Amino acid sequence: MPTVSPLARASVRALSPYVPGEQPRMRDLVKLNTNENPYPPTPSIRAALDALRVEDLRLYPDPAADALRARIAALHGASPGNVLVANGSDEALRLCIDAFCEPDGSVGYVEPSYSLYPVLADIRGLRRAPLDLWPDLAWRVPSGYAASVFFLTNPNAPTGHLFAKDGIRAFCEGFPGVVVIDEAYADFAGVSCADLALALPNVLVCRTLSKSYSLAGLRLGWLVGSAPLVAALDAIRDSYNIDRVAQAVACAALDDPAWMRANVERIRASRDRLAAALRDRGWTVADSATNFLWARPPAGGPAATALFRQLRGRAVVVRHWDAPRLRDFLRITVGTDAECDRLLAAL
Ligand code: PMP
Repeated sequence: MPTVSPLARASVRALSPYVPGEQPRMRDLVKLNTNENPYPPTPSIRAALDALRVEDLRLYPDPAADALRARIAALHGASPGNVLVANGSDEALRLCIDAFCEPDGSVGYVEPSYSLYPVLADIRGLRRAPLDLWPDLAWRVPSGYAASVFFLTNPNAPTGHLFAKDGIRAFCEGFPGVVVIDEAYADFAGVSCADLALALPNVLVCRTLSKSYSLAGLRLGWLVGSAPLVAALDAIRDSYNIDRVAQAVACAALDDPAWMRANVERIRASRDRLAAALRDRGWTVADSATNFLWARPPAGGPAATALFRQLRGRAVVVRHWDAPRLRDFLRITVGTDAECDRLLAAL
């Protein structure tokens, strides 16, 4: 990476940027590293693309994305004014920082969790306020804990752990700032806190089409919550943050929830099968409510760091973080049964 210009803000110069999972260009690759869906999105997207007129691309898209927001609102039993659409949920999360954190504010999140949250704090020079849930991941909040914005991934990543809704509700009710419940994997758990977000004035739920809807390449996420919170986000977003193609494709995907649900069911079955096979081989595998497994190889064999490299040598790519407390584990995206079998064979 070239060095960052001295003209950049101090917090940008000091930043360790977010590192996305790699997108390798190997042939015959088993790609189990970024929690993508192994199945294609609904074929009705083809018709939606065919209906797009190339000449219309000279025109800006609907700045309010009305058709798309209406569908998302219907999904949650909400009104379009409760919905903010974004260029992937990553953009939605960033907007929350910009809307709800003063320059001397702080960003809370669970540790371990999605590694983007501390980076979003660092970009703005905000204080990090992690809530350490090691080693058992049980929900506990020290008295007096506060932050401007708190990101709660549910189910959590990279652990796959589902936090109980009662505890989340009690936390949100007592929390002085905004709670953003990141539900990137919620369709795999079958549990959502969207009703909490619609009932409480300080809660937003963040969703994405990247995982359960097989549309990571589209970049479409959203936030749902009380209209005043959404109005704050709406005031600062780019006017045309969702392009014409994304609006049309996202509408088609949301119009076919049965397709998404069938894929989710297949992935859940493969997940349980893969977890059982790994446990049979002596691995410690956390119960997962997602489309990935958080797994520790058996003692006495190669450690996770070595296994990660050896698997890569056999064209099976999983995720590994060389960081304290994370480095003993691999995060394995659940692929098709055939892909899971290739992983097991490579092991
Ligand atoms: N939240 C979590 C917990 C994730 O794991 C991811 C995927 N890296 C995202 C958000 C980002 O999803 P999107 O593709 O919608 O930006």
